[in-house]
Amino acid sequence: MEKRDYYEVLGVAKNASDEEIKKAYRQLAKKYHPDLHPDDKECEEKFKEANEAYEVLGDPDKRAKYDQFGHAAFDQTAGAGQGPFEGGGFSFSGGFDDILNSFFGGGFTRSSSRASRNQPTKGDDLRVYIELTLEEAAFGCTKEFSVTKNLTCEQCAGTGSASKKKTTCKACNGTGMQRKVTSTILGQMVRETTCESCNGSGYTVSDPCPACSGKGIIRRTVKETAEFPKGINEGQSLRKAGKGNPGTNGGPNGDLYVSVRLKKHKIFTRDGNDVLQTVYLTYPQAVIGTTVKIPGLDGDIDLRIPEGTQNGKVFRISGKGVPVLNSKSMRGDMLAEISIVIPSRLTEAQKDILRTFDQATDNVLGSDSTADPKKGGGLFGRRKK
Ligand SMILES: [Zn+2]
Ligand SMILES: [Zn+2]
Repeated sequence: MEKRDYYEVLGVAKNASDEEIKKAYRQLAKKYHPDLHPDDKECEEKFKEANEAYEVLGDPDKRAKYDQFGHAAFDQTAGAGQGPFEGGGFSFSGGFDDILNSFFGGGFTRSSSRASRNQPTKGDDLRVYIELTLEEAAFGCTKEFSVTKNLTCEQCAGTGSASKKKTTCKACNGTGMQRKVTSTILGQMVRETTCESCNGSGYTVSDPCPACSGKGIIRRTVKETAEFPKGINEGQSLRKAGKGNPGTNGGPNGDLYVSVRLKKHKIFTRDGNDVLQTVYLTYPQAVIGTTVKIPGLDGDIDLRIPEGTQNGKVFRISGKGVPVLNSKSMRGDMLAEISIVIPSRLTEAQKDILRTFDQATDNVLGSDSTADPKKGGGLFGRRKK
């Protein structure tokens, strides 16, 4: 008989949450429980089918494998005609009390990593933050940094044993899990816990490696380098594959993520690929016009200030911003915002000049003292009022 899709068996969507799967399974387990339908072969089959489906979909690791490979993912381990659960934690040969107790009698704690205790597991990913200056991020740089991480012990090749010999744990037969059965007034209670003899690894070591105290891993601070491409920005990360913590039981190493933080710049503010700065001008410079040198990311820039430049005016200098990430030649712009500085202390002589000037501009602009100061000489006209 063709095996039914596990999601179909439980009547849940492919993207169902763990909670939905558990709920659907509970309902089926109640509905088809053989105690409620003695000698009903069909119900027993349905019950088994639901158990089998839940055994896989209720376990994140197995579910992921099933999603990828379907039933084929478990055919080899399960053997012909067997559900995958029979090789694992549950055994149904002694009746169905165990599974029921897990829901109705209480006390059973399901461990999602139960089946993967001693299977190859990818190591943890690590993340470090590196501070870059705006210029370093703009034009790219190489940085050396330290990272503290786990390394496979070289002396024992990660086995934890001085002679590199592992012995299968007798207490759990290498499964890494222990099954404890206790009798209560509610019936048999089954509990699966991490094996105490081997801490879940599935093997024991009789001659612990002196370098790592039998752990198989050592913690070290090591030097790494990261090459940041031009245009990288705050919050972006580089991934160094395999530079994270080592995997267990032959699993691959985790990855190392190097995330960028930008240092505050004393002149520039970065906005995407554009760079902002404030350019301070005197009143005469803004009024008469001039050319000023302003700092750029790669050398000074000559900025022409046209006659009559207003306070707050923003000049866009094209192509003088940050290079665009992964682009050969594209760059953002430099934005220069004009701020006209009003002097706060002037000598009498200087004031006289300004008074003369003010009278002169009154003649030019008229004597409208309500004139918008942004539009010209009304600034002084206002003070006269
Ligand atoms: Zn054990
Ligand atoms: Zn060692």
